[in-house]
Amino acid sequence: MNNTISELIKKISTANNIYIASHVNPDGDSIGSILAMALGLRKINKNVNIIKTDEIPSDYLFLPNIHMIRTYDIDEEKDPIDLLVVLDCGDIDRLGKFKSIVSNSKFVINIDHHISNSGFGDINIVDEQSAATGELVFDLLVGMGIQIDKEIATCLYTAISTDTGSFSYDNVTSRTHEIVVSLINAGIDKSDINIRLYQSRSIERTNLFISSFSTLKTYNDNKIATVKVTQDMLKKANAKMEDTEGIISFIRDIKPVEVACLLKENKEKEIKISLRSKRFVDVSKICSAFNGGGHKRASGCTINESINDAERLIVEQIIKMW
Ligand code: 5GP
Ligand code: MN
Repeated sequence: MNNTISELIKKISTANNIYIASHVNPDGDSIGSILAMALGLRKINKNVNIIKTDEIPSDYLFLPNIHMIRTYDIDEEKDPIDLLVVLDCGDIDRLGKFKSIVSNSKFVINIDHHISNSGFGDINIVDEQSAATGELVFDLLVGMGIQIDKEIATCLYTAISTDTGSFSYDNVTSRTHEIVVSLINAGIDKSDINIRLYQSRSIERTNLFISSFSTLKTYNDNKIATVKVTQDMLKKANAKMEDTEGIISFIRDIKPVEVACLLKENKEKEIKISLRSKRFVDVSKICSAFNGGGHKRASGCTINESINDAERLIVEQIIKMW
């Protein structure tokens, strides 16, 4: 790891144009990590570009310098990139429509905490023991001698808090808490961040929750639970797909439930599936069966069937791999 970090520091110090990329449907860990990395590199006078594949969910628009994140201009493909840093991204396909950015880069650093990471970088810093990619970014910035200021700390706190269910999941370690001590000491407004992240649900999102919860089905003595969100439900609630954030944890939190499943109808035959488990089922293995992946307790995949067929297929797979 130390050799890798000194190689990484050397790469960063000699690179002129650095790009940082987020994954599709970016979450708090993705956005918090890319922003913190960019702000850190800016402090050592690097020219950094942060690229988004999908829109930033409104939950994260409060983050400092969020408007540094922009789309990849097709004209940029003419100039090879010196150094690309990809964060929180298990494989190249997770970069979505801009995945050509990887082949357009002379050197790729892959920093991630997914057990299923494919190791696509020239340097791979992949540690599945880390609760969030934000933890790895913290260690790297500190390792590079960059001071964690309030803005960077706000981004990293958001990254780590959102990927750990506010520090409640079993991926949290004493190291997680040590890092948070440093973030708090950097002067973050913890109360404001928590209200913005967890106590700011819109009426539209609330209405979507209500209609989604009404689709609840349970299997195996209530140990498996599914809910759905269809395009029709989004329209009726005047909500966006990002407003599904929070639905799956509510379902997982039902006492007898071990595996919770949310089926999101992106298109008629394109169903994005999220799985969460509580104690023992490794949902990353279940999602791998459909070319997806993630973590033991939180994973995802896409099934190109109708929403009802996708539900049947995923429930069969959960039961098979129980
Ligand atoms: P979510 O259910 O919130 O979309 O994702 C849960 C976790 O699984 C995240 O860590 C995410 O990166 C990962 N994940 C979600 N969908 C996919 C997928 O299609 N492929 C892979 N490899 N990982 C995914
Ligand atoms: Mn993450």
